[in-house]
Amino acid sequence: MPRVPPAARAAKDADGGRPARPPERCAVVDLGAVRHNVRVIRTIAEPARVMAVVKADAYGHGAVPVARAAIEAGATWLGVAHIGEALALRAEGIEAPVLAWLHTSAGDFSAAVGAGIDLGCSGWELRRIAEAARGCGRPARVHLKIDTGLGRNGAPPDRWEAVLAEATGYQDRGLLRIVGVFSHLALADEPHRPGTDAQLGVFRDAVALAEDAGCELEVRHIANSPAALSRPDSHFDLVRTGLSLYGLSPFRDRSSADLGLRPAMTLRVLVSHCKRVPAGQGVGYGLTYRTSEESVLGLIPLGYADGIPRTSRGGPVRIAGTTYRVAGGVAMDQTVVDLGPSTDSTAMAGHEAVIFGTGEDGGPTADDWARAAGTINYEIVTRISPRVPRVHINSEPDARPHAGSGSG
Ligand SMILES: *Cc1c(COP(=O)(O)O)cnc(C)c1O
Repeated sequence: MPRVPPAARAAKDADGGRPARPPERCAVVDLGAVRHNVRVIRTIAEPARVMAVVKADAYGHGAVPVARAAIEAGATWLGVAHIGEALALRAEGIEAPVLAWLHTSAGDFSAAVGAGIDLGCSGWELRRIAEAARGCGRPARVHLKIDTGLGRNGAPPDRWEAVLAEATGYQDRGLLRIVGVFSHLALADEPHRPGTDAQLGVFRDAVALAEDAGCELEVRHIANSPAALSRPDSHFDLVRTGLSLYGLSPFRDRSSADLGLRPAMTLRVLVSHCKRVPAGQGVGYGLTYRTSEESVLGLIPLGYADGIPRTSRGGPVRIAGTTYRVAGGVAMDQTVVDLGPSTDSTAMAGHEAVIFGTGEDGGPTADDWARAAGTINYEIVTRISPRVPRVHINSEPDARPHAGSGSG
């Protein structure tokens, strides 16, 4: 795993001691921040345990290194959407309990059972899972999902007893073990709305019915990040946290710092080119931006193919301690910032630009980009594309954090 710090000023070659050349573009992922965030969530959730949700390549942060860091910091479970994501963790030698919860009729339930992966189950999967277990010669571990109101996965409440009857039937035949009951919340990021109370009520009833039906549950779980952080009555045995693990806030009116979390990802790139242009210079496809005076334009070699939202307007970019705004649209590979008339264009070319990061020194954050793009911070980090290399820093649990926490 590369352990190249984000900037030449901090980087040293392993042997030569000379500054390593920083990659021209990368997403620096601070695993020290991930471990810190896990510890924060653990403290809040105790005595409930923490499932680190590492689906979608750990929201773009790199599933395997994040999973390892989260386990080191005391998360006891891993959560993913697809069986394929869970198998990829197992293939890297990760042995922690893993739950996969989103399946289709083409899902490889045999591979999952064979690899000791716990399966979320809404009901329709039961027969397939039982058949896979028979083929593997070992019982499948199943978490039954009740739809308490989100309207996506999960058995509707009026089907719950039928699902329990079918599942306990397979359990009695030794084909599966019902180890969990779970659900997912629709409104936990909007604590002022009352729907969460109703969902928790339906969940408690579903758990009671499962226990009455003879299920010896290891874990009951419904809390995502916003619920873990704001609703202790939702914690039950396990909180399934994704966003907060990455140091981002699920709440509109509370920042990462307000929650004691540290954003783990810094997206940075070298300024490709700078040039002085006259007043009235159009910028980018459609010429939606024109300089109001003579100015310097900086070319940022990241675009929507890298995951910068094309729908964003005026997103922030930090260069040499100043935050500039994107001028015009975001193209496939590149974006332009207006650096103003007094910028020295030769000094800025080749300089590091931070698109978003920890926000510590007033720099831009994923939250700022979410606002600029009319979306949520979840999407900003998750959509950073594979064209952007991930550089993981502070991989070792006892590593001293780099100055600036890798914000470069
Ligand atoms: C993605 C997901 C989570 C994690 O949600 P966060 O808000 O990122 O903490 C938890 N549970 C399920 C079922 C999910 O799909």
